[in-house]
Amino acid sequence: MKIGIIGAAGRMGRMLLAAVDAADGAVIAGGVEAPGHADLGTDLGKLAGLDGVGVTLTSDAEALFQAVDAVIDFTVPVVTTLNAHLAKKFGTVLVIGTTGMDEAQQATIVTASISAAIVQAANYSVGVNVLLGLVEQAAQILPEAYDIEILEMHHHHKIDAPSGTALALGHAAAAGRNVNLDEVADKVRDGIIGPRKSGDIGFATLRGGDVVGDHTVMFAGPGERVEITHKAASREVFANGAVRAALWGIDQKPGLYSMKNVLGF
Ligand code: NAD
Repeated sequence: MKIGIIGAAGRMGRMLLAAVDAADGAVIAGGVEAPGHADLGTDLGKLAGLDGVGVTLTSDAEALFQAVDAVIDFTVPVVTTLNAHLAKKFGTVLVIGTTGMDEAQQATIVTASISAAIVQAANYSVGVNVLLGLVEQAAQILPEAYDIEILEMHHHHKIDAPSGTALALGHAAAAGRNVNLDEVADKVRDGIIGPRKSGDIGFATLRGGDVVGDHTVMFAGPGERVEITHKAASREVFANGAVRAALWGIDQKPGLYSMKNVLGF
């Protein structure tokens, strides 16, 4: 299966190239970066620290979508939205890792999934997808007296906050409580904000160093606290999950899928 990577010279892009190279049944068939990027023309294998694969980095996303079976995109929301249009146009499988979409951008992806199989996940690690299930279950069992707080930490380059994974955990907790996250989310606290509102789901964001991604969901109740934590030690777990999603996607009808679908949870 021919796989192309968009954002191929980025932190995740390079890991994805290595993960495709290592996967059975998958070949690196193309890689795209922003126009003017310093690495354009470089062999994609070399970008990933491997031997050359004879395919070089370009800035032509349209040609990539035409040439491959599946595209994996870990870039920025505005670029991913354009790529969703290309997936729709060519019916290519699209695996989206980019986080931080606004409502309009998300709507574009939903529309594109009418004509293409699209997998979208805020986190492609198996462990985080298990965590999502555990959080939903805990939120369902523990009464509202258990305040839910979600704490995340990432490296200092990350541009969106709270992380897509933290928001996904918030949605899982809200689903467990049968409420809408948008109505109970408390994302910013500053100054004299008064006591915590019962039923809110709070978020706290830390940024620093080279932290790949830490998430803790706390259920702080009367006299006890339950904390469920996931720590990613390497971006490899996301890259391997995304390649697995691409290989899975090739057999799917058009539609919008999650990593839970890929893992069969
Ligand atoms: P990064 O900044 O290292 O990489 C993004 C790359 O996209 C850059 O190399 C940039 O040049 C490239 N890019 C920008 N414009 C482009 C264009 N027009 N065409 C092609 N490429 C373009 O960032 P990163 O740490 O690799 O993260 C990328 C995204 O993936 C973020 O949204 C991050 O939150 C997300 N992420 C998701 C998961 C997951 O499991 N879903 C895991 C890690 C990161």
